Amino acid sequence: METKGKRLVVLGAGESGIGAAILGAREGYCVLVSDSGMIADSRKAELEANAIAWEENGHTLERMLEAELVVKSPGIPANAPVISAVRGRGIPVIGEIEFASRYTHAKLVCITGSNGKTTTTSLIHHIMLKAGLDAALAGNIGASFARQVAQGEHAYYVLEISSFQLDDMYDFKADVAVLLNITPDHLDRYEHQMANYVRAKFRIAQNMTSADSLVYCADDAETMNYLKEHSLGARLLSVSQRVASGQAAYLSGQTLQFAVPGVPPFGIAVDELSLRGRHNVYNAMAAGVAVLVLGVPEVAVREGLMDFKGIAHRFEFVRSVGGVAYINDSKATNIDSAWYGLDSVKGGVVWIAGGTDKGNDYRTLLPLVREKVRGIVCLTTDSGKLHACYDGVVPQIVDAHSASDAVKAAQGMAKAGDTVLLSPACASFDLFKNYEDRGDQFKRCVMEL
Ligand code: ADP
Repeated sequence: METKGKRLVVLGAGESGIGAAILGAREGYCVLVSDSGMIADSRKAELEANAIAWEENGHTLERMLEAELVVKSPGIPANAPVISAVRGRGIPVIGEIEFASRYTHAKLVCITGSNGKTTTTSLIHHIMLKAGLDAALAGNIGASFARQVAQGEHAYYVLEISSFQLDDMYDFKADVAVLLNITPDHLDRYEHQMANYVRAKFRIAQNMTSADSLVYCADDAETMNYLKEHSLGARLLSVSQRVASGQAAYLSGQTLQFAVPGVPPFGIAVDELSLRGRHNVYNAMAAGVAVLVLGVPEVAVREGLMDFKGIAHRFEFVRSVGGVAYINDSKATNIDSAWYGLDSVKGGVVWIAGGTDKGNDYRTLLPLVREKVRGIVCLTTDSGKLHACYDGVVPQIVDAHSASDAVKAAQGMAKAGDTVLLSPACASFDLFKNYEDRGDQFKRCVMEL
């Protein structure tokens, strides 16, 4: 094999690193997986079963510098000392998505954005399966892209791609790309410069030609500003809830209208979409346009948008108790996603908010909070910023340090017809393992009411 004996170093032994290592070994590389922390026993066993070397609790520099290629986990920042050291020697450093894309001929449908990636990626995959296409789901979801490429070929991959993954992609090209929206998130990784984050997101469209399609949102200010100043190679298709003219998907009253050039136009009533909320109308528009571009028939789009089940922790209805609905939107970890969470609720809201703050400006939510929120439960170890913004704005605002206290406090504030919404606008790490843990604990407490 051409690459036999070539050394590949994989930095980070998470799912993407293990996948890259297995694919590298299959492609004839001599692979070393190196992690700055401990490697889980199950991962070690998997590496050993594939005769792949590993080291943990630190990177041995000499071994790093022997590499011909380094594949790095998206969690490792570009300025980490080990990255500077290998780059300083001229050793290329790429991400797992870039690496895996070198070994597949499949068509790639790639979804990025600040919010809505998992939902839209899963929705596109769901519709493609309905249409009978051989499509696999990868990227940030489930088994890594590299692992799946190592296991066998599919006709299509539907990839959820974060900005961190995009940072490590160079020659990669999507056949269809979806850029949902660009709102502030993870700015600590981008020198607190929004322009850097926007540029990272637009890497989704790099290398695309007029044979490839980019679906974007014409209502998104950052996207539109960038497009005004940059011309892209891809065929451009936009969606909007504000304007109809020139859009591949738009709203006509309460009907989502598809008008992809070359495809007979059709509409679906917003009420018929299985997912609720204005944000999910955007997700449905983008997903529909992306699959129509691939030639998926109208009937599969219609059915798929109507029977998609939704994903846990994304505006997930839990149950009603005493006429109060409980909704778990634990994955709303930034201001914009919480805005859509609050916007999607009809009637009064008791809002459970807070957690590890990423530099939030809570004032953005003031109009919605004034209009809808009858009480706030701050579920965090540090509620200072929430109090500073909302004290006196809402009738009641209290602190809680566990899901159980938060649910009880919220129940006490809610009246029949209200909704208790966990949509925290923050990461979860101050009180929970992760957003899933926070959402699961919330659901358990609601089930116990
Ligand atoms: P991501 O994978 O980008 O984090 P998810 O689909 O997991 O996105 O949704 C994360 C959060 O963002 C959820 O709270 C969800 O309700 C909200 N959300 C989903 N789609 C959108 C969208 N298009 N715009 C804004 N918020 C959204």
